[in-house]
Amino acid sequence: MDPCTLCPRQCKVHRSNDEVGFCGIGSRPVVSSVGPHFGEENVLVGGGGSGTIFFAGCNLGCVFCQNFDISHHRHGRQVSIEQLAQAMLELQQHGCSNVNFVTPTHVIAPILAALELARAQGLTLPTVYNTGGYDSLETLRLLDGWIDIYMPDMKYSDPRVAEELSAAPDYPQINHQAVREMHRQVGNLKTERDLATRGLLIRHLILPENLAGSFETIDFLAEQVSRSTAINIMDQYRPCYEASSHPAISRRPTLEEIQSVRRYAIRKGLNVLAR
Ligand code: SF4
Repeated sequence: MDPCTLCPRQCKVHRSNDEVGFCGIGSRPVVSSVGPHFGEENVLVGGGGSGTIFFAGCNLGCVFCQNFDISHHRHGRQVSIEQLAQAMLELQQHGCSNVNFVTPTHVIAPILAALELARAQGLTLPTVYNTGGYDSLETLRLLDGWIDIYMPDMKYSDPRVAEELSAAPDYPQINHQAVREMHRQVGNLKTERDLATRGLLIRHLILPENLAGSFETIDFLAEQVSRSTAINIMDQYRPCYEASSHPAISRRPTLEEIQSVRRYAIRKGLNVLAR
């Protein structure tokens, strides 16, 4: 973080001095909410919910962001490493199924310090790295052994679309190498009594006009990661934030656009989650 090279943006600002780069967060993480969440994938929820910790700020600039008040306006409260560790332990005491770090990439250094502390104080829950998928290889390697379930987005296959919609023209290349590294660390998704314990779970949001490059993403997973990759194909896109200024994404995907992606993923043999 000094200078900050935590993510592919490589802003090189001095975050210990509270300088901020693209993600807008200084030395301390900003947390917008902590608690059991029942809207995640069934394999993460169980009886106690997924123990989510939502971090404010983001290293992507998606024009259709559905959490823009948290990601772009950075609503939340600054926390110390000790407070973050305490939050993890409280999620465990509440009976949550896991600790789910939502948008962690730009604050992974304090998360790791807090996780080490929480483990020393009895945290045993699986950890979920719930990321937009714009993660550098070097940083991911530091997470080896600390993260049990990687849940990255795969947002785009086309650099021009990634540039226009998320200000990240290198997203496809970075995202592919990140997903390969995540799979190398944890393998395919494994469950016990219908709850995820370890592995890779991809999230892919279908955009209108195949702007998300859905078929190319499915090909990549089936041919270069694993035919048994677990994937949640998400159909809930709706224009939010600044999407209305981009005509191609100012509507929801059609039923045919959604079903054709699902059919293709199933035909390719991927483990397509029902939800
Ligand atoms: S984590 Fe933030 S400050 Fe650091 S390189 Fe990424 S966007 Fe820039």
